Amino acid sequence: MFSIGHHRILSVLSRSGPQSRTDLARILDLSKASVTALVRELIERRILDERERVFGFGRPSVMLGLRQDAASFIGISLQADPACAVLTDPHGRVHAQLTFPLVNDVEASLAAMSCAVKRIIDMATPDIGAIAGIGIVIAGIVSSDSQTCLASATLGWKDVEIGSRLKAMTNLPVFVENDANALIVGEQLFGNSGDLQDFSLVFVSEGIGGAHIINGRLHRGRHGGAGEMSHSPIAIDGVALPCRCGNTGCLETLAALPAILGAARRAGLPDDIAGIVQMATDGHPEALTILHRAGTALGVALSQVIQFVDPARIVVRLDPNLVESVFARALRQAVEAHVLRRDSYHTELLLSSLLPLDFATGAASLAAQHFLFGNANL
Ligand SMILES: [Zn+2]
Repeated sequence: MFSIGHHRILSVLSRSGPQSRTDLARILDLSKASVTALVRELIERRILDERERVFGFGRPSVMLGLRQDAASFIGISLQADPACAVLTDPHGRVHAQLTFPLVNDVEASLAAMSCAVKRIIDMATPDIGAIAGIGIVIAGIVSSDSQTCLASATLGWKDVEIGSRLKAMTNLPVFVENDANALIVGEQLFGNSGDLQDFSLVFVSEGIGGAHIINGRLHRGRHGGAGEMSHSPIAIDGVALPCRCGNTGCLETLAALPAILGAARRAGLPDDIAGIVQMATDGHPEALTILHRAGTALGVALSQVIQFVDPARIVVRLDPNLVESVFARALRQAVEAHVLRRDSYHTELLLSSLLPLDFATGAASLAAQHFLFGNANL
């Protein structure tokens, strides 16, 4: 559909915002004439439009931007129950959303997704662009061609060709990814980290997921499992608890939400994160200990990520109640204590809320990434 030249221009505009033709030529190391020709084609195809003029030295520059109605994308999250679907524009703004029950049966799941796609297309307003693709997010491992769920404990799936099946049902391109990978692509494309060539993302929910952008590209690893952190061995104070995976001392037995809630239950504390955080804020020693231990465990794991990968930033997505809590302070202290002191540079830790639609929006970003970047080696 687009040439590599088109994709390179679209990648710069989606990650860095509006640019002039002169800036695009400089950034992409192309001649001004080439950029002018490529831009003309993208304007004629209603992908780009001309924005305000910027006055500087010499002639004023016309800024070029990605049109909101250039295309739209459907994201489906099968990461948790209920499943949800969103419709976004190329800037990641959500224009429609719905939820539906998560089912494990493959045929029933395909039927539910196909129905959700039809419903969300019906909900689209006329100002939205044509739908260019669908992204699906699962908790599990996905093949390198983003079509097959190799394994998902949540769904009980093994070698399920979910992408090609849904493509046949909807006539739209479909891209499947695991939850952490989709979140980091969403952060790169729709979030505030698109200008970084090297950054990581970690999220804490039922488990703990991680993903890395290295040299501007998602690092999937040989089998699609790069960044997986839930079952990294982390023992704090010599405590190694049994994990659902059969090992002991896994990170999720200390820092994932079920671990925090389980420890709180055993101590007779409230069975919800907001309640535990409130008790810790009020100085309750058991609540403080539980959150401190969990935050420390995640901080130790993040210090290993920093030592191994050296990202410019780690985005940590958490339950909103944890973002400013003793959990967060313990996490930062553990990173401080375990990362080799480096005077000239450091890894930024950006803690923010994991919101209910984030996985579905991340799923939509997979389709947006393919539409905007194609397979161009950017
Ligand atoms: Zn484990």
